[in-house]
Amino acid sequence: MAPITSGTVPRSTKMHSKVVIIGSGPAGHTAALYLARANLNPILFEGFMANGFAPGGQLTTTTEIENYPGFPNGIMGPELMDKFREQSIRFGTQVITETISKIDLSARPFRYWREGQESEEPETAETVIIATGASAKRLHLKGEETYWQSGISACAVCDGAVPIFRNKSLAVISGGDSAAEEATYLTKYDSHVYVLVRRGELRASKIMAKRLMSSPKIAILWNTVAVGCRGDGDLFDNLRIKNVLNGDERDLPVSGLFYAIGHEPATALVRNQLQTDEDGYIVTVPGSTQTSVKGAITSAGSGCMAALEVERLLAEEEADSREDGPV
Ligand code: NAP
Repeated sequence: MAPITSGTVPRSTKMHSKVVIIGSGPAGHTAALYLARANLNPILFEGFMANGFAPGGQLTTTTEIENYPGFPNGIMGPELMDKFREQSIRFGTQVITETISKIDLSARPFRYWREGQESEEPETAETVIIATGASAKRLHLKGEETYWQSGISACAVCDGAVPIFRNKSLAVISGGDSAAEEATYLTKYDSHVYVLVRRGELRASKIMAKRLMSSPKIAILWNTVAVGCRGDGDLFDNLRIKNVLNGDERDLPVSGLFYAIGHEPATALVRNQLQTDEDGYIVTVPGSTQTSVKGAITSAGSGCMAALEVERLLAEEEADSREDGPV
């Protein structure tokens, strides 16, 4: 991340803000940009390796992004996030490289604490935008860390078009709709794809399953799990697989491995305070980014909508307080 900064707030200074954004992915920065341009002086906590990601989130772990409009020659993930950050700061967002570790949404103003300051006086905010995103689940196989983003990925649609995955043998793990979608996508580049399914049946919907099973470029390995990854030191080139019925292990020489085993929302901070679904995703009022607590907005992948809802709420409350006040 480039050393762009909007100044530091001493840790001893306790802030009160109209709006605090937690999270620094595209949704967080989009919200920041709209709020800063609306003169609401947003504070954005970009985290310090929050959820294991550098400021900028998941996109900082990817390489070339070719499907983001405005960059006809593609752009590297970390560079794109640097640009988001620079733009937020240019319009007056205060970006703080710390993680919010505790929040109290039981009353407004909301109270929150930075990591390491949990026993100190809290800081406060009228509204909070939760833009903490999600991360793709990984299996953490032996050798996976070495070849992560060097042949191993959790997003075929993001990474599948790069030359190392074209016209090769590849593997996708899981039997869900994402796996069906990703495997089918990878065949567009003349690759042959093995889909490893840990059971004897797919979880994917009928239509996706049919598409998967009818492709001549896809082979399903039933009752099969991955147990380890190897490579040549630079790139991944072999997946060790195991048949769960008989325990037999063998090598599967593949140039790419894609996980499609679901996502984990980064909502632990608010899970007991906001309504979430069974997978931990924050439930919103239909058609909006408003959560079950007034003033707590989730970006829900839509930072612009979150910013506009905060702006509207603060304006309404300001107008209400003027009407209620002395004349
Ligand atoms: P999902 O439906 O939860 O499926 C996850 C898959 O990963 C399951 O097959 C599961 O196996 C497998 N899995 C989980 N942990 C595993 C592990 N440790 N080892 C091996 N396999 C593992 O997730 P998803 O496919 O990402 O879909 C999420 C939602 O989005 C679904 O509602 C889906 O319908 C929807 N979606 C729709 C589309 C579309 O229609 N175009 C595309 C993508 C996603 P088990 O089956 O054995 O549990």
